[in-house]
Amino acid sequence: MPNRSSNAGHIPQRTCVVCRTKTDKKKLIRFVLLNSEIVFDLNCKIEKRGYYVCDDNNCLQKLEKRVKKILRSRSLNGR
Ligand SMILES: [Zn+2]
Repeated sequence: MPNRSSNAGHIPQRTCVVCRTKTDKKKLIRFVLLNSEIVFDLNCKIEKRGYYVCDDNNCLQKLEKRVKKILRSRSLNGR
């Protein structure tokens, strides 16, 4: 069976935690939160709940604020 060309359009999409835009996973930077610190997971090796942010100064500048909110809502939900 030949490869279906429609498969080419299937790129995983992720949402930027700052601007909430859905983009190709490749265009976003993955990071995890280790001890409340932002750790960029450039090789996607860290097996933890990952978050994504645009590779964009605007979003990166706001990331820290955004993460603080995430951490706060996390602690409200317990652990
Ligand atoms: Zn963004």
